[in-house]
Amino acid sequence: MRFDLLHPREQLVQIMDRIYRYGLTTTSGGNLSVLDENGDLWITPAAVDKGNLLPGDIMCLTADGQVLGPHKPSSEYPFHQAIYQKRRDVRALVHAHSPALVSFSITRQLPDTRIIPQAHHVCGQVGFAPYALPGSEQLGENIAYTFAQGFDVVLLENHGAVTAGSDLLTAFQRLETLDFCARTQIQATSLGPVHTLSNEQIARFEERPSPLPTFRPVRHSSPERALRQQICHMVHRAYEQRLMTSTEGTVSARVDRERFLITPYGIDRSHLEIEDIVLVENGRAEEGKRPSRATRLHEVIYAEHADVHCIITAQSPYAMAYAVTGQPLDSRTIPESYVVLRNVPLVPHGQQYDAPEKISAAISPKSPAILIRNDTVLTTGASVHQAFDRLEVADFTAFSLLNALPIGPLVPIGEAEVEALEAKFG
Ligand SMILES: [Zn+2]
Repeated sequence: MRFDLLHPREQLVQIMDRIYRYGLTTTSGGNLSVLDENGDLWITPAAVDKGNLLPGDIMCLTADGQVLGPHKPSSEYPFHQAIYQKRRDVRALVHAHSPALVSFSITRQLPDTRIIPQAHHVCGQVGFAPYALPGSEQLGENIAYTFAQGFDVVLLENHGAVTAGSDLLTAFQRLETLDFCARTQIQATSLGPVHTLSNEQIARFEERPSPLPTFRPVRHSSPERALRQQICHMVHRAYEQRLMTSTEGTVSARVDRERFLITPYGIDRSHLEIEDIVLVENGRAEEGKRPSRATRLHEVIYAEHADVHCIITAQSPYAMAYAVTGQPLDSRTIPESYVVLRNVPLVPHGQQYDAPEKISAAISPKSPAILIRNDTVLTTGASVHQAFDRLEVADFTAFSLLNALPIGPLVPIGEAEVEALEAKFG
């Protein structure tokens, strides 16, 4: 479904629903708007339950100054108007008070989007707007002034965040990604200093991999069709559980010796459909589609590991706290985690582009999940289900370990207990 073809009312309801369900705002806080081609401003209403918003609730401030709709427009509409006046390229705005972003705003610090290249690619640099009374003209001026300097993502002192885009989905993805950065950084702080990427490392990501040659599949086998559905199902689940964001996360699955399926580049993970998945056969991609940037890495892993039938790369925020600090994620603390994950090696950033064979060499039955520094959690499995379970267990383990830190010293299980686990579970 093409999101950009939906009426602004429908777009605003869908995105508000996502923001509310993912805990990025409370029922009273947060507002969104879209400026359409006629210059009419569509905006969420004031004092209406954000958990039950309907298209008919959306207010319209027309270009000729009328206010249409059954409610009052959001009390923060002055800043929306001020930004649209200053930035002609902006056609949609998202404002929300996510707890992690508010934590940054009340300590007057900015989340660093350089923790992973994709986050910097989506958000760019983050601006800061000085405090002013909510709903006031002064707040509008402060925020619009910060946007006028070219930022697409702005944190408001002691308040929340505003993100902009040429469309509502882009503005939402910036909020979601910024929130991911904030949550990851907050978790990582208890492990040690957070490592951020250099301009060169970011630039390396921005270079597009050269496109694969293409082919037109003559038929789609039943196992391939079943895998398409499994991949879609797992991507939606990973998104709902916030193990992926709408712009990040790749799943691939082996069809046979020559072919595997992989998720596409640049498609909203929450609306991924079976026809979006790309078939790759002997280094060629299904024509008319754009496979994930990680295709080459997945191809190398499948070539070298006959037992691997699914690979998932994702940015789950708890496990990523380890990937951005370079601290070891020690699974020898929880028996179930050790049985599922074994040792979780950390591999250097950059190998995902320059040395996929080194990443592949780090994978084995004794290390089926790895962390790529400042990039991703990578899990493998004999099935889609097993690779997904490993991703869930990796994030669950990281969550437990991180939450244990403030409680007291962590007690790993001993060598004898580890040997007993290996003897029992192979
Ligand atoms: Zn607000």
